[in-house]
Amino acid sequence: MAKRNTKAKQLILDSLKNTRSAISQEVLQKELGETVDRATIYRVLNSFCEDGIIHKILSDDGKYYFAVCMNCSEKAHKHNHFHFRCLQCGKIECLPNEIEVKLPEGYRSVNFNGFISGYCSGCS
Ligand SMILES: [Zn+2]
Ligand SMILES: [Zn+2]
Ligand SMILES: [Zn+2]
Repeated sequence: MAKRNTKAKQLILDSLKNTRSAISQEVLQKELGETVDRATIYRVLNSFCEDGIIHKILSDDGKYYFAVCMNCSEKAHKHNHFHFRCLQCGKIECLPNEIEVKLPEGYRSVNFNGFISGYCSGCS
């Protein structure tokens, strides 16, 4: 079981790294075919999120997408970037710009969830 899990983890991580954009569990499942079952994908994605390897994006189409983290650690996710969904090609990306949001005095942010839809550079 442990061995199978390690292999599944590697396959899933490879798929996530090979896609430049964020992908949904559905698409991931299609890519992996029969090699990894649904429950395993779900479990592995969640553990990757906890470990600061990937992060979950709630899209404005109501679905969750997953993208690889750049500088996150096991202790905390550290990103303030917008996510962008292209209305033409459907791609969901992490935008590279880090956003600084000014909060009222006494407020401290822990999580940032910014989402934009429009047309990407390839489609506009
Ligand atoms: Zn992260
Ligand atoms: Zn596009
Ligand atoms: Zn992102």
